[in-house]
Amino acid sequence: MNLNSLIRKEVRRLCPYKARHIHCRVKLDANESPYSYPQLLQKALEVHTNRYPDPEGRELKRAAARRWRVGMRNILLSNGSDEILYYLVTTFGGPVLFPAPTFSMYGIVTQALGQKALSVPLQQDFDIDIRRTIRAIRTHRPKIIFLSIPNNPTGNSFSMEKVLKVVEETRGIVVIDEAYQPFSSRNHIMLVREYPRVVVMRTLSKIGFAALRVGFLIGHPEVVEMVNRVRLPFNVNTLSQTVATEVFNNYEIILEDVKRIKEQREYLYARMSSIRGIQVYPSDANFILFRVRGARAVYRRLLREGILVRDMTQELEDCLRVTVGTEEENRMFVEVLERIMK
Ligand code: PMP
Repeated sequence: MNLNSLIRKEVRRLCPYKARHIHCRVKLDANESPYSYPQLLQKALEVHTNRYPDPEGRELKRAAARRWRVGMRNILLSNGSDEILYYLVTTFGGPVLFPAPTFSMYGIVTQALGQKALSVPLQQDFDIDIRRTIRAIRTHRPKIIFLSIPNNPTGNSFSMEKVLKVVEETRGIVVIDEAYQPFSSRNHIMLVREYPRVVVMRTLSKIGFAALRVGFLIGHPEVVEMVNRVRLPFNVNTLSQTVATEVFNNYEIILEDVKRIKEQREYLYARMSSIRGIQVYPSDANFILFRVRGARAVYRRLLREGILVRDMTQELEDCLRVTVGTEEENRMFVEVLERIMK
Protein backbone atom coordinates (compact mmCIF):
# COMPACT_ATOMS: atom_id res chain seq x y z
CA MET A 1 0.00 0.00 0.00
CA ASN A 2 1.39 3.40 -0.91
CA LEU A 3 -0.05 6.01 1.41
CA ASN A 4 2.46 8.70 0.54
CA SER A 5 0.28 10.46 -1.99
CA LEU A 6 -2.56 10.61 0.54
CA ILE A 7 -0.64 11.89 3.53
CA ARG A 8 -0.02 15.57 4.21
CA LYS A 9 3.61 16.39 3.59
CA GLU A 10 4.11 17.69 7.15
CA VAL A 11 3.06 14.31 8.51
CA ARG A 12 5.23 12.44 6.00
CA ARG A 13 8.25 14.21 7.48
CA LEU A 14 7.22 13.76 11.11
CA CYS A 15 9.18 11.64 13.60
CA PRO A 16 6.85 10.34 16.31
CA TYR A 17 7.53 11.04 19.97
CA LYS A 18 9.98 8.50 21.38
CA ALA A 19 8.09 6.82 24.21
CA ARG A 20 9.23 3.25 24.30
CA HIS A 21 8.38 0.57 26.79
CA ILE A 22 11.67 -1.19 27.47
CA HIS A 23 11.71 -3.93 30.05
CA CYS A 24 14.02 -3.07 32.95
CA ARG A 25 14.53 -3.43 36.68
CA VAL A 26 14.97 0.23 37.50
CA LYS A 27 12.97 2.62 35.32
CA LEU A 28 14.54 6.06 35.36
CA ASP A 29 13.85 7.23 31.81
CA ALA A 30 10.50 9.03 31.71
CA ASN A 31 10.53 11.57 34.57
CA GLU A 32 7.74 9.73 36.33
CA SER A 33 7.37 9.70 40.10
CA PRO A 34 8.63 6.53 41.79
CA TYR A 35 5.56 6.69 44.07
CA SER A 36 2.10 5.34 43.32
CA TYR A 37 -1.10 6.13 45.28
CA PRO A 38 -3.60 3.25 45.04
CA GLN A 39 -5.36 4.58 48.17
CA LEU A 40 -6.66 7.53 46.12
CA LEU A 41 -8.53 5.24 43.72
CA GLN A 42 -11.39 4.40 46.11
CA LYS A 43 -13.81 7.05 44.82
CA ALA A 44 -13.22 5.94 41.23
CA LEU A 45 -14.96 2.66 42.07
CA GLU A 46 -18.24 4.57 42.60
CA VAL A 47 -18.22 6.06 39.12
CA HIS A 48 -21.29 5.47 36.91
CA THR A 49 -19.69 3.81 33.94
CA ASN A 50 -22.70 4.37 31.68
CA ARG A 51 -22.64 8.18 31.86
CA TYR A 52 -20.45 10.64 29.99
CA PRO A 53 -18.03 12.64 32.12
CA ASP A 54 -18.83 16.15 33.34
CA PRO A 55 -17.81 18.03 30.17
CA GLU A 56 -16.50 20.95 32.23
CA GLY A 57 -14.86 18.88 34.97
CA ARG A 58 -16.25 21.29 37.54
CA GLU A 59 -15.23 19.46 40.71
CA LEU A 60 -11.71 18.99 39.51
CA LYS A 61 -11.50 22.59 38.35
CA ARG A 62 -12.79 23.78 41.71
CA ALA A 63 -10.17 21.75 43.58
CA ALA A 64 -7.34 22.90 41.30
CA ALA A 65 -8.49 26.54 41.41
CA ARG A 66 -8.47 26.46 45.20
CA ARG A 67 -4.95 25.06 45.30
CA TRP A 68 -3.54 27.58 42.80
CA ARG A 69 -5.62 30.53 44.00
CA VAL A 70 -7.11 31.26 40.61
CA GLY A 71 -10.71 31.32 39.39
CA MET A 72 -12.37 28.32 37.76
CA ARG A 73 -12.63 30.41 34.59
CA ASN A 74 -8.85 30.58 34.51
CA ILE A 75 -8.57 26.81 34.02
CA LEU A 76 -8.95 24.45 31.07
CA LEU A 77 -8.63 20.70 31.64
CA SER A 78 -6.95 18.29 29.27
CA ASN A 79 -6.04 14.69 28.68
CA GLY A 80 -2.43 15.24 29.76
CA SER A 81 -0.70 18.53 29.09
CA ASP A 82 0.40 17.22 25.67
CA GLU A 83 -3.16 17.74 24.53
CA ILE A 84 -3.00 21.42 25.47
CA LEU A 85 -0.15 21.84 23.01
CA TYR A 86 -2.50 20.72 20.24
CA TYR A 87 -5.21 23.04 21.44
CA LEU A 88 -2.89 26.03 21.66
CA VAL A 89 -1.41 25.57 18.20
CA THR A 90 -4.87 24.86 16.76
CA THR A 91 -6.22 28.04 18.36
CA PHE A 92 -3.40 30.47 17.64
CA GLY A 93 -1.44 28.88 14.78
CA GLY A 94 2.20 29.57 13.99
CA PRO A 95 4.95 30.43 13.70
CA VAL A 96 5.80 28.76 16.99
CA LEU A 97 9.08 29.60 18.70
CA PHE A 98 10.95 27.69 21.41
CA PRO A 99 14.49 27.28 22.66
CA ALA A 100 16.48 24.15 21.86
CA PRO A 101 16.91 21.64 23.25
CA THR A 102 13.55 21.42 24.96
CA PHE A 103 10.50 19.15 25.16
CA SER A 104 10.22 17.58 21.71
CA MET A 105 6.42 17.70 21.54
CA TYR A 106 6.44 21.48 20.93
CA GLY A 107 8.01 20.86 17.54
CA ILE A 108 6.08 17.68 16.76
CA VAL A 109 2.65 19.21 17.42
CA THR A 110 3.51 22.39 15.53
CA GLN A 111 4.63 20.40 12.50
CA ALA A 112 1.68 18.00 12.69
CA LEU A 113 -0.65 20.97 12.47
CA GLY A 114 1.19 22.32 9.45
CA GLN A 115 2.64 25.31 11.25
CA LYS A 116 6.17 26.66 11.19
CA ALA A 117 8.38 25.64 14.12
CA LEU A 118 11.37 27.85 14.90
CA SER A 119 13.97 27.09 17.51
CA VAL A 120 16.70 29.25 19.04
CA PRO A 121 19.63 27.39 20.61
CA LEU A 122 20.10 27.84 24.34
CA GLN A 123 23.39 29.28 25.61
CA GLN A 124 26.19 27.04 26.87
CA ASP A 125 24.76 27.38 30.40
CA PHE A 126 21.31 26.39 29.04
CA ASP A 127 19.79 29.81 29.74
CA ILE A 128 17.85 31.66 27.03
CA ASP A 129 20.03 33.41 24.44
CA ILE A 130 18.10 36.64 24.72
CA ARG A 131 19.75 38.48 21.81
CA ARG A 132 19.00 35.71 19.33
CA THR A 133 15.52 35.20 20.78
CA ILE A 134 14.63 38.87 20.44
CA ARG A 135 15.95 38.84 16.89
CA ALA A 136 13.81 35.78 16.09
CA ILE A 137 10.73 37.44 17.63
CA ARG A 138 11.25 40.60 15.56
CA THR A 139 11.89 38.68 12.34
CA HIS A 140 9.23 35.98 12.58
CA ARG A 141 6.58 37.46 14.90
CA PRO A 142 5.67 34.11 16.49
CA LYS A 143 2.09 33.56 17.56
CA ILE A 144 3.23 31.24 20.34
CA ILE A 145 6.45 30.95 22.35
CA PHE A 146 6.94 27.81 24.45
CA LEU A 147 9.18 27.97 27.52
CA SER A 148 9.56 24.86 29.66
CA ILE A 149 10.52 26.06 33.15
CA PRO A 150 12.27 24.00 34.51
CA ASN A 151 13.40 22.95 31.05
CA ASN A 152 13.30 19.36 29.91
CA PRO A 153 15.92 17.90 29.29
CA THR A 154 18.42 20.40 30.76
CA GLY A 155 16.77 20.68 34.19
CA ASN A 156 17.45 24.39 34.76
CA SER A 157 15.02 27.29 35.07
CA PHE A 158 15.58 30.18 32.67
CA SER A 159 16.46 33.48 34.32
CA MET A 160 13.35 35.43 35.28
CA GLU A 161 14.77 38.60 33.79
CA LYS A 162 15.04 36.94 30.38
CA VAL A 163 11.59 35.40 30.61
CA LEU A 164 10.14 38.86 31.28
CA LYS A 165 12.10 40.29 28.35
CA VAL A 166 10.56 37.65 26.08
CA VAL A 167 7.08 38.46 27.42
CA GLU A 168 7.60 42.19 26.87
CA GLU A 169 9.05 41.74 23.40
CA THR A 170 6.48 39.43 21.82
CA ARG A 171 2.91 40.19 20.88
CA GLY A 172 2.15 36.46 20.85
CA ILE A 173 1.11 34.02 23.54
CA VAL A 174 3.89 32.96 25.94
CA VAL A 175 3.28 29.44 27.24
CA ILE A 176 5.19 28.59 30.40
CA ASP A 177 5.19 24.83 30.68
CA GLU A 178 5.46 24.07 34.38
CA ALA A 179 5.38 20.27 34.12
CA TYR A 180 8.26 20.15 36.64
CA GLN A 181 7.19 23.10 38.80
CA PRO A 182 6.53 21.01 41.94
CA PHE A 183 10.27 20.31 42.16
CA SER A 184 11.37 23.90 41.71
CA SER A 185 11.08 27.11 43.69
CA ARG A 186 9.76 29.05 40.72
CA ASN A 187 6.09 29.55 39.87
CA HIS A 188 4.69 31.71 37.09
CA ILE A 189 0.98 31.77 37.83
CA MET A 190 1.31 35.36 39.07
CA LEU A 191 2.48 36.37 35.59
CA VAL A 192 -0.91 35.30 34.21
CA ARG A 193 -2.55 38.01 36.31
CA GLU A 194 -0.14 40.66 35.12
CA TYR A 195 0.12 39.65 31.46
CA PRO A 196 -3.05 38.27 29.83
CA ARG A 197 -0.94 36.80 27.00
CA VAL A 198 0.95 34.53 29.39
CA VAL A 199 -0.47 31.08 30.04
CA VAL A 200 0.85 28.35 32.32
CA MET A 201 0.65 24.60 31.78
CA ARG A 202 0.59 22.10 34.64
CA THR A 203 0.29 18.31 34.80
CA LEU A 204 -0.21 15.56 37.36
CA SER A 205 2.10 13.26 35.39
CA LYS A 206 5.32 14.03 37.25
CA ILE A 207 3.94 13.77 40.76
CA GLY A 208 2.60 10.23 40.65
CA PHE A 209 -0.33 10.27 38.22
CA ALA A 210 1.04 9.80 34.74
CA ALA A 211 -1.51 7.00 34.31
CA LEU A 212 -4.45 9.41 34.65
CA ARG A 213 -3.44 11.79 31.85
CA VAL A 214 -4.56 15.03 33.44
CA GLY A 215 -3.21 18.41 32.40
CA PHE A 216 -4.20 22.03 32.98
CA LEU A 217 -4.01 25.31 31.18
CA ILE A 218 -4.10 28.34 33.46
CA GLY A 219 -4.73 31.61 31.71
CA HIS A 220 -6.77 34.76 31.37
CA PRO A 221 -10.47 33.82 31.08
CA GLU A 222 -10.65 35.21 27.53
CA VAL A 223 -7.69 33.11 26.42
CA VAL A 224 -9.10 30.02 28.15
CA GLU A 225 -12.45 30.62 26.47
CA MET A 226 -10.80 30.78 23.01
CA VAL A 227 -8.81 27.60 23.56
CA ASN A 228 -11.92 25.89 24.92
CA ARG A 229 -13.55 26.31 21.48
CA VAL A 230 -11.23 23.70 19.97
CA ARG A 231 -11.33 21.30 22.94
CA LEU A 232 -12.87 17.91 22.28
CA PRO A 233 -15.96 17.25 24.39
CA PHE A 234 -15.35 14.91 27.35
CA ASN A 235 -11.57 15.04 26.85
CA VAL A 236 -10.95 14.13 30.50
CA ASN A 237 -12.64 10.87 31.48
CA THR A 238 -14.62 10.46 34.70
CA LEU A 239 -12.12 8.11 36.34
CA SER A 240 -9.33 10.63 35.84
CA GLN A 241 -11.48 13.57 36.95
CA THR A 242 -12.47 11.71 40.11
CA VAL A 243 -8.99 10.59 41.08
CA ALA A 244 -7.43 13.94 40.16
CA THR A 245 -9.90 15.71 42.46
CA GLU A 246 -8.82 13.33 45.23
CA VAL A 247 -5.20 14.25 44.50
CA PHE A 248 -5.92 17.91 45.21
CA ASN A 249 -7.94 17.02 48.30
CA ASN A 250 -5.02 15.00 49.66
CA TYR A 251 -2.19 17.13 48.43
CA GLU A 252 -0.15 16.93 51.67
CA ILE A 253 0.72 13.32 50.83
CA ILE A 254 2.01 14.38 47.43
CA LEU A 255 4.02 17.25 48.90
CA GLU A 256 5.79 14.89 51.31
CA ASP A 257 6.90 12.69 48.42
CA VAL A 258 7.92 15.70 46.35
CA LYS A 259 10.14 16.74 49.27
CA ARG A 260 11.65 13.26 49.32
CA ILE A 261 12.33 13.41 45.58
CA LYS A 262 14.04 16.80 45.96
CA GLU A 263 16.24 15.42 48.74
CA GLN A 264 17.11 12.42 46.59
CA ARG A 265 17.92 14.73 43.69
CA GLU A 266 20.53 16.47 45.88
CA TYR A 267 21.91 13.09 46.96
CA LEU A 268 22.14 11.92 43.34
CA TYR A 269 23.71 15.20 42.24
CA ALA A 270 26.39 14.95 44.93
CA ARG A 271 27.19 11.30 44.26
CA MET A 272 27.28 11.73 40.49
CA SER A 273 29.45 14.86 40.78
CA SER A 274 32.10 12.88 42.59
CA ILE A 275 32.48 10.39 39.72
CA ARG A 276 35.48 11.22 37.52
CA GLY A 277 34.59 11.72 33.86
CA ILE A 278 31.02 12.82 34.44
CA GLN A 279 29.73 16.35 34.15
CA VAL A 280 26.51 16.80 36.08
CA TYR A 281 24.14 19.71 35.47
CA PRO A 282 22.20 21.26 38.35
CA SER A 283 18.47 20.59 38.24
CA ASP A 284 15.24 22.17 39.48
CA ALA A 285 13.27 19.17 38.21
CA ASN A 286 12.88 15.47 39.06
CA PHE A 287 15.65 14.43 36.69
CA ILE A 288 19.34 15.15 36.17
CA LEU A 289 21.16 15.66 32.89
CA PHE A 290 24.76 14.47 32.71
CA ARG A 291 27.51 14.40 30.14
CA VAL A 292 29.84 11.46 29.79
CA ARG A 293 32.24 10.47 27.06
CA GLY A 294 30.80 7.55 25.10
CA ALA A 295 27.31 8.22 26.46
CA ARG A 296 25.69 5.67 24.14
CA ALA A 297 27.92 2.89 25.45
CA VAL A 298 27.26 3.98 29.04
CA TYR A 299 23.52 3.91 28.31
CA ARG A 300 23.79 0.35 26.98
CA ARG A 301 25.89 -0.82 29.91
CA LEU A 302 23.39 0.63 32.38
CA LEU A 303 20.59 -1.15 30.53
CA ARG A 304 22.48 -4.43 30.62
CA GLU A 305 22.40 -4.07 34.42
CA GLY A 306 18.64 -3.44 34.26
CA ILE A 307 18.80 0.34 34.64
CA LEU A 308 16.95 2.41 32.06
CA VAL A 309 17.82 6.10 31.63
CA ARG A 310 17.07 8.41 28.71
CA ASP A 311 19.50 8.70 25.82
CA MET A 312 19.73 12.41 24.96
CA THR A 313 22.67 12.15 22.60
CA GLN A 314 20.64 13.26 19.58
CA GLU A 315 19.73 16.51 21.30
CA LEU A 316 22.93 17.10 23.30
CA GLU A 317 26.28 15.54 22.57
CA ASP A 318 27.21 12.78 25.00
CA CYS A 319 24.30 13.51 27.32
CA LEU A 320 22.03 11.15 29.25
CA ARG A 321 19.12 12.02 31.52
CA VAL A 322 18.27 10.15 34.68
CA THR A 323 14.99 10.49 36.57
CA VAL A 324 15.18 10.68 40.36
CA GLY A 325 13.79 7.42 41.73
CA THR A 326 13.43 5.94 45.20
CA GLU A 327 16.42 5.96 47.53
CA GLU A 328 17.17 2.35 46.61
CA GLU A 329 16.82 2.90 42.87
CA ASN A 330 19.11 5.93 42.99
CA ARG A 331 21.72 4.03 44.98
CA MET A 332 21.62 1.15 42.51
CA PHE A 333 21.98 3.55 39.59
CA VAL A 334 24.92 5.42 41.13
CA GLU A 335 26.73 2.25 42.11
CA VAL A 336 26.45 0.79 38.63
CA LEU A 337 27.53 4.11 37.12
CA GLU A 338 30.55 4.24 39.43
CA ARG A 339 31.48 0.72 38.38
CA ILE A 340 31.15 1.57 34.68
CA MET A 341 33.35 4.65 35.05
CA LYS A 342 36.18 2.93 36.99
N1 PMP B 1 5.87 19.27 29.26
C1 PMP B 1 7.09 18.81 29.52
C2 PMP B 1 8.21 19.77 29.65
C3 PMP B 1 7.30 17.44 29.68
O1 PMP B 1 8.53 16.97 29.92
C4 PMP B 1 6.20 16.56 29.57
C5 PMP B 1 6.33 15.06 29.74
N2 PMP B 1 7.45 14.47 29.26
C6 PMP B 1 4.96 17.10 29.27
C7 PMP B 1 4.81 18.45 29.14
C8 PMP B 1 3.76 16.23 29.04
O2 PMP B 1 3.15 15.87 30.18
P1 PMP B 1 1.74 15.13 30.18
O3 PMP B 1 2.00 13.77 30.71
O4 PMP B 1 0.88 15.97 31.08
O5 PMP B 1 1.20 15.12 28.78
